[in-house]
Amino acid sequence: MVVHTRSRGQQQSVKTMEGHHHHQKVEANILLYGADHVGKSALTVRFLTRRFIGEYGDIESIYSHVDKIDGREVSFNIWDCLYSQDRAISDKQLKWADGIVLVYSICDQDSFDVVRRQVQHLRCSGKTSSTPSSSSSTPIIIVGNKRDLQHHRTVSSEEGHMLALSQDCGFFEISAAETYHGVLLVFHGLADLIKGSHALKRGATSVRSIVRTVSAVFGKKRAE
Ligand code: GDP
Ligand code: MG
Repeated sequence: MVVHTRSRGQQQSVKTMEGHHHHQKVEANILLYGADHVGKSALTVRFLTRRFIGEYGDIESIYSHVDKIDGREVSFNIWDCLYSQDRAISDKQLKWADGIVLVYSICDQDSFDVVRRQVQHLRCSGKTSSTPSSSSSTPIIIVGNKRDLQHHRTVSSEEGHMLALSQDCGFFEISAAETYHGVLLVFHGLADLIKGSHALKRGATSVRSIVRTVSAVFGKKRAE
């Protein structure tokens, strides 16, 4: 069943409900948010190139990546956010996003607090208004990154798990540095949640207003 269509530039994308229209491309706009230095760009680049580069610079960008999940093409648009202390996820970003990945580092309690505040804000804002905003039901996956740095851990797995459970989010502890697999679980897991979600956004947000920059490094790696 086709439930919603929207156009993005030349491209016509079709949202479908789970289990139908296997021949149609599913589009998933995914927003990555979290404190500085937690590994948002590392996660993104791992997913796009399967590689871990080490240093990523500070580039705010939307990356497109087509992947196959269970034989069906999923077109990912990944918005790798730049963090600034006084800026939560904006309404524009919320409107754009079909799903959100909130990233913290297991070695950085402050980064966990950033995720906690953001997820509570997202989940609460819908409940207080008379017309529940879709952010209260947007699929969210919470990611504790840098799992390889066990000896520097300051956020326990339980804390992460409990937060995710209490706010109805998915949860993974991963190491973008060590493996591709965990990163894949995050993005494919979120794509599944998005497919299952009935929180479909209305209206197209202009993505054209956002400059697409792929750094030379990533561009070269991808082209190899
Ligand atoms: P962002 O600011 O959230 O985009 O973080 P980056 O992706 O730029 O990563 C910040 C720093 O953490 C970089 O030096 C990365 O190499 C490092 N980093 C990212 N992921 C991991 C990880 O899983 N383990 C370790 N040990 N370092 C990581
Ligand atoms: Mg970054």
